[in-house]
Amino acid sequence: MTITRRTVLAGTALATAPIGGSAALAQTSPATPSTAASNSPSQQAPGFYRYKVGEIEVTAINDGFARRPVEGFIKNAELKDVQAALQEAFLPTDAFPITFNTLVLNQGGKITLIDTGNGDMGAPTSGRWMANFRAAGFDPVQVSTVVISHFHGDHINGLRLKDGTAVFPNAEVMVPAPEWAFWMDDARMNQAPEAMKGAFQGVLRVFGPIAEDVKRYEMDKEVVPGLTSIAAPGHTPGHTAYMLSSGSAKLMIMSDVTNHPALFVRNPDWSAVFDMDAEQARATRRRMLDMAATERAQVAFYHAPFPATGHIAKEGNGFRFVPVQWSSAV
Ligand SMILES: [Zn+2]
Repeated sequence: MTITRRTVLAGTALATAPIGGSAALAQTSPATPSTAASNSPSQQAPGFYRYKVGEIEVTAINDGFARRPVEGFIKNAELKDVQAALQEAFLPTDAFPITFNTLVLNQGGKITLIDTGNGDMGAPTSGRWMANFRAAGFDPVQVSTVVISHFHGDHINGLRLKDGTAVFPNAEVMVPAPEWAFWMDDARMNQAPEAMKGAFQGVLRVFGPIAEDVKRYEMDKEVVPGLTSIAAPGHTPGHTAYMLSSGSAKLMIMSDVTNHPALFVRNPDWSAVFDMDAEQARATRRRMLDMAATERAQVAFYHAPFPATGHIAKEGNGFRFVPVQWSSAV
């Protein structure tokens, strides 16, 4: 058979036709009746991915995604240029998916989280974190430390349910000192423009009840064994990245140094509407990406496509994100 564009399209249509789905279901249902209900054909496998950094076991936990309209998302680029970048990455050019990926560190049974996802406060396509965390074999009562990178809702809301319940009852919560100083300042909250008030109130909702117990960490300090804070301001005033080290192995944890790599690793000078100090965020982004590329370090991003880890290569005036190859071996 000669492969033409037409036969390729026909093949695609066949693969997505309803009868394909029914046939697949008919094959699996009789053999596995107990899982048929929970594993519906439209359900994805649990979103967790393990890898090692030296002796430390890292698990990326996905919290779903939110679709973001492209128009108005980048402050200093023409819409057509942003759409061209998305097209180059084979992403939709009207609204594109931003994913959420936290990290769990397991050090001999001592469990540390880095950021917590949206909890029950995010987009309907998010809020998958707890199911994925449990599917990875963890339980919230086991968590001994929660390290927070910055105070945006998609990173902190997983700490406390909408009804006020603390999600990690046994965890010490550690936050960047400069971030705390900015957001927990009553005077600043009262003076904030209307559009910013919600962000301040969100921070207060999460941290208010535990304000006495929250531990504030400084920059260039070992926050938990092997995890060192790196000042990465701009996205927010106290936004923090990390270096995770074990023996000679390293992982640069970039937090929100970039949002979607297809946009901001390729075009590090572009500024998302979320960057509170665009100029500072740009300088931080260039510095961190350049360091990752030069050192050939493995990186993890909160908003990269799952499992959100890979490497940075220099390309043109920007960089390119090269995801790791998925491995069945941890
Ligand atoms: Zn974020």
